[in-house]
Amino acid sequence: MSGRIIDGKHIASIIRESIKQETEKLIEERGIQPGLAVVLVGEDPASQVYVRNKERACQKVGMYSEVHRLPEHTSQSELIQLIERLGRDERIHGILVQLPLPAHIDEKAVIAAIPPAKDVDGFHPVSVGNMVIGDEAFLPCTPAGIIELIKRTGIELAGKHAVVVGRSNIVGKPVSMLLLHEHATVTMCHSRTPDLAAMTRQADVLVVAVGRPEMIKAEHVKPGAVVIDVGVNRLPDGRLVGDVDYDEVAAIAEAITPVPGGVGPMTITMLLKNTLQAALRI
Ligand code: NDP
Repeated sequence: MSGRIIDGKHIASIIRESIKQETEKLIEERGIQPGLAVVLVGEDPASQVYVRNKERACQKVGMYSEVHRLPEHTSQSELIQLIERLGRDERIHGILVQLPLPAHIDEKAVIAAIPPAKDVDGFHPVSVGNMVIGDEAFLPCTPAGIIELIKRTGIELAGKHAVVVGRSNIVGKPVSMLLLHEHATVTMCHSRTPDLAAMTRQADVLVVAVGRPEMIKAEHVKPGAVVIDVGVNRLPDGRLVGDVDYDEVAAIAEAITPVPGGVGPMTITMLLKNTLQAALRI
């Protein structure tokens, strides 16, 4: 058996096209151009790339975007003042603060300053709470992208056993909750899970968000499972790999996401979707 490749790039491009059309319609019919403000503090090279990609993605679908690049030494209160100003700005429907922030800034305080109605990253405690109880909320982009990817591939989640490796607030925990909402039976694993392979081998759907290059091998995977690899790891030789040993696992999986070109393109797509949604709610 050789697994189907879940083509995140292709699926993302289809969704972005429909977001573009809806954006054009919103501008034409109501004169509202969805607007996203991205705030970046400091010089982290990876963050700079992510921010640039978000800005470009917005422009491509016809949204308004502005990027606020602030120096590393920006104080927490200066940053919060900017967020409060963006919160009042009518051109801006979504606010995203690129994480991680420099160590002297309290991330929680900064996220709490984003009005929940503009929290297109879905990290505000109000958004998280609404997601957990199943109320309307902006869903965090990577977890929402994973669910969308699975659904658009025609994979049924109801009644399946989903195993999630990783329990971060941005991926592992929220994706587990969204899988539960899709009626999967969910097991969450982490660094204290003894015998990880015994757990992951039970998965019909295995989601891996750890940040360790190629740690999931064929021995961790039940033949015929669907494998979603969230990991993005740069090897010393420059290659980009996931948390799953792609060649080994693709040989036994029913379907698998590649890295790059799997989950990654869906994350920004869900950010665009949330920004459009925020503008539609005006
Ligand atoms: P974190 O570092 O916040 O969390 C990693 C999780 O993995 C933790 O819960 C940790 O457990 C668990 N873990 C670590 N080692 C092991 C192990 N040996 N066995 C089992 N579990 C383990 O990472 P993120 O969730 O932020 O990111 C995970 C990966 O996904 C990264 O590679 C990141 O780059 C990528 N990513 C990709 C995105 C995309 O758009 N494609 C978006 C976001 C992230 P514990 O809690 O016990 O420490």
